[in-house]
Amino acid sequence: CINNLSDLEKLAVLGHGSGGTVYKVRHRSSASIYALKVLRFTEDAVTIRLQAAREAEILKRVDSPYIVRCHGVFNNGITGNGDGGSDLCFVMEYMEAGSLHDVLRVRRRFPEKVIYGVARRVLEGLHYLHGMQIVHGDIKPSNLLINAIGHVKIADFGVSHVVAGKPNNTCDFFMGTSAYMSPERFDPERWGGDCSDGFAGDVWSLGVVVLECLVGHFPLIGPGQKPDWPTLMCAICFGEKMEMPETAASPEFQSFVCRCLEKDWRKRGTVAELLSHPFVNKGCCDSTEGLVDYALNG
Ligand code: ATP
Ligand code: MG
Repeated sequence: CINNLSDLEKLAVLGHGSGGTVYKVRHRSSASIYALKVLRFTEDAVTIRLQAAREAEILKRVDSPYIVRCHGVFNNGITGNGDGGSDLCFVMEYMEAGSLHDVLRVRRRFPEKVIYGVARRVLEGLHYLHGMQIVHGDIKPSNLLINAIGHVKIADFGVSHVVAGKPNNTCDFFMGTSAYMSPERFDPERWGGDCSDGFAGDVWSLGVVVLECLVGHFPLIGPGQKPDWPTLMCAICFGEKMEMPETAASPEFQSFVCRCLEKDWRKRGTVAELLSHPFVNKGCCDSTEGLVDYALNG
């Protein structure tokens, strides 16, 4: 049990995100290893503070083998930077093989037998979250972490929010912007996003991630195209149908991705439907051993 931040010894920096830094830490008395995410915000950083508070509230309620475990949240008080700011620290399960983003950067692309294990586990995680009325809101490769046995888990609820209890189940559409966002979040007027509850947006993001694992680059624009916002907006929001890149993919893979990347969120596959899709029921999907070979052994 971790009672205090001083119980933890920093060993290394695991990565930097937009809101702070993630460290590898050791619990002094038990020698257990954790990841410590430190979100730093100045006194007037209202948005980040809000984001952090959300993250803490959601993480405390979450307990699933498909979601990165949070072992504690600490408020570090005034940091002494002279800006009146403070740190919010999350002690998380340490995911030895890093993020899917890290692995993709090295390996570029995966065979389908590895991808369906990833898709299956992310769907299981989303099924759990959506069952708790939680929209993740920021599914992307850097928020999918891999442990030493190749299990992928969902992390980072920075822009998630609890839908239940909000008036009209409305979404905070502009919390965070990502290339993995769905058409209805980018352009609510055209795609009816103002009446979406947000769950379908997580499915879209999963579709983009799955396709990226196959083609080896952000898949909604060409490999040579500059990923600036106008280009991304055009690719995501215009046209009635998402064009599948020319790849040698199985019919099951193509059908799965098409169900995720249906532009009209009302017609898009739901998590429950996709869990019984043939692509993620090809065999034993619980272990993504291939992935850990890729991640840890290069
Ligand atoms: P963004 O701020 O846009 O969400 P991000 O997801 O990369 O970007 P962080 O969530 O702060 O930002 O994570 C930074 C990096 O730290 C990740 O990409 C990952 O490599 C590493 N990391 C985060 N959490 C863990 C963890 N629990 N175990 C191991 N590595 C982690
Ligand atoms: Mg993250």
